[in-house]
Amino acid sequence: MTEAVSSPEGAETGVYRAVCGLCDGCCGISIALENGQIVQIEGQKDHPISKGYICPKGRAVKEMVEAPDRIRRPLKKTGGGLWQEVSWDEALNLVARKLEEIKAKYGAEAVAVHVGQAGVRKESILYAKRFYRAFGTPNFSTAGSHCHISKMMANMITYGELPVPDCLNSRCIMLWGYNPMASCPPLMNNINEAVRRGASLIVIDPKATLTAKRADCHLQLRPGTDGALALGMLNVIIKEGLYDRDFVDKWTIGFERLAKYVADYPPEKVERITWVTADKIKEAARLYAKNSPACIYQGIALELHTNGFQTIRAISILQAITGNLDVCGGAIFVPAAKLASLKFKTTERNAKPVIGQDEFPLFYKHTRQAQANIYTRAIFEGEPYPIKGMIVAGSNPVLTWPNAGKVKSALASLEFLVVVDHFMTETARLANVVFPAATFLGRSELWSTAHSFGMPKIGLAAAVLQEKYNMSDWEFWKELAGRMGYGEYFPWKSEEDAINFRLEPLGLTVEGLKREPFGYTYNKWAGKKYEREGFNTPSGKVEIYSEELEKHGYDPLPVYKEPAESPKSVPEIAGDYPLILTTGARAIGYVHSRFRSLPSLRRLSPEPLVEVHKDKAGELKIKDGETVVVETLRGSIEIKVKLTDKVDPRVIFIPHGWNDANANILTDNEILDPVSGFPAARALLARIIKKKTCFWNK
Ligand code: SF4
Repeated sequence: MTEAVSSPEGAETGVYRAVCGLCDGCCGISIALENGQIVQIEGQKDHPISKGYICPKGRAVKEMVEAPDRIRRPLKKTGGGLWQEVSWDEALNLVARKLEEIKAKYGAEAVAVHVGQAGVRKESILYAKRFYRAFGTPNFSTAGSHCHISKMMANMITYGELPVPDCLNSRCIMLWGYNPMASCPPLMNNINEAVRRGASLIVIDPKATLTAKRADCHLQLRPGTDGALALGMLNVIIKEGLYDRDFVDKWTIGFERLAKYVADYPPEKVERITWVTADKIKEAARLYAKNSPACIYQGIALELHTNGFQTIRAISILQAITGNLDVCGGAIFVPAAKLASLKFKTTERNAKPVIGQDEFPLFYKHTRQAQANIYTRAIFEGEPYPIKGMIVAGSNPVLTWPNAGKVKSALASLEFLVVVDHFMTETARLANVVFPAATFLGRSELWSTAHSFGMPKIGLAAAVLQEKYNMSDWEFWKELAGRMGYGEYFPWKSEEDAINFRLEPLGLTVEGLKREPFGYTYNKWAGKKYEREGFNTPSGKVEIYSEELEKHGYDPLPVYKEPAESPKSVPEIAGDYPLILTTGARAIGYVHSRFRSLPSLRRLSPEPLVEVHKDKAGELKIKDGETVVVETLRGSIEIKVKLTDKVDPRVIFIPHGWNDANANILTDNEILDPVSGFPAARALLARIIKKKTCFWNK
């Protein structure tokens, strides 16, 4: 491939630089076009993050763009339940009319707007927010209802900011409920580099993954007991005086109360809770505390428990008291780029509360969003009021939200559902109108590596392809708003115009960013910001004891509670459902429910499989490849068995995102984390039943 250039707009033939937008990896890719068609894709060897690497998803971009099953025109469901291609004008006018009807009949709050990250750009959220505010509904939600926000909240409440692990400069890296080999390979490349330079690696994962096998210390814990494990490690560190006394004295509040609380979690007791031996707990605690600077990656898996928020608090406190905050190689605070805000004040005040505002007030305070996990209550029970219509952009709730059976029935019962996506997803099938989304190659968007790699850089991923048949998602919101009389809230003439507005405070422009293919460095990390400004908390210190939590009726210390469904918390249920089910681990070829129809990725993981330890399988008399029924209190799915020795015999693993065996049929949206409202997708009680065979198949 010849050398790639930037500024590709309007070009049909040539080699162009792009930034992969399929995950947070921000890999640099070179795209060769001939007459507007992709002929080759390569990683950019000179790219400072990805250094020539692209994962199987990046290599499958041509398949994704040209997929025969991609939605290429707006679709309207007809009376007979069939789909009819319609013009953009007809589809947008229909949606505008229906939303106005619902607003007139039930009030604006009866429409919810949900934006995920499946195929729509992150910046799209900002424009969708302008739309929902102009429309007047209080109900706007994002994937943050079950991803990332709980971690963000726990860190904000403890330190006032969400830090980023600086793994390349660490002497010890802890991956806690996180496997970047599957979810963010460029980050794994950095971790491998740090390990080659001598950093120790600790992995905390209930499964002996390939990453865990490479670790110096792997703690294979019982799913959902991470909080107890963190308390056990704190116990060792405090008892053995391995914490940073100066930092603790000067910069924390509540340390004495914490010390008293964790004294009740000696490793021997924690062993009984977590199944990790006391010796391993001590080994990991000492390895981490004696090898500063050290950093901890807190994975999404930690959030998806009924005790997830407090677990993350405990881990955050672990990295604070060991003196690893905002130091090179520790957990660093990297400022976000100061872009122009797209918020605007509405004159009308919402008469109705946001859904979830009363139940999860801190989630609301930190996000100003609805908690989507309880939309089903509003739809079915009218609590706190009915939801009758929804716009779902870049999200597939039928496969990715907890208690999917209920979610599917709820969405099917709406008076009007609009979906924006690349493919006819299981959620799109329930819609009245479906709009095609542009791929990341067909739209321009900003990217930043501040919160993924700790690099304060911002860049432009400029459109490479002319995807003539669809609008960029920015245009979707603008066009819909225009038809409903809210055009004044979208004053920009073009996507570039809107991005230029965002960039103004930095003195940057789209044209300028096109000349910075590896991004513009907008800030310099100086370290120990707290010594100059204090922590961004009410006390200006690390709040081990949080009065804010106490004020809202939550435990002010990072207490451990058993998962709502566990052999210890509900032994009467565990009698019938004796296995611990964990769902949702990532596979490298997929992001949640996406890309199953792309042949090269499907070959990597052709079908959903429940992983069962071979001893347990022997006990249950089930064989490798046999189809079984896995059941929880919510429902059951049929799925093939994969025998393994990588999991504890008491634990089973099911991947999510498959329609054929939808793991979220099994998960729960009734008992949620009391602070964040996050669901328990990673630790539930389940049983395996042999599938009944017909007598002629016996
Ligand atoms: S890791 Fe893969 S999906 Fe993520 S940005 Fe890189 S190439 Fe794209």
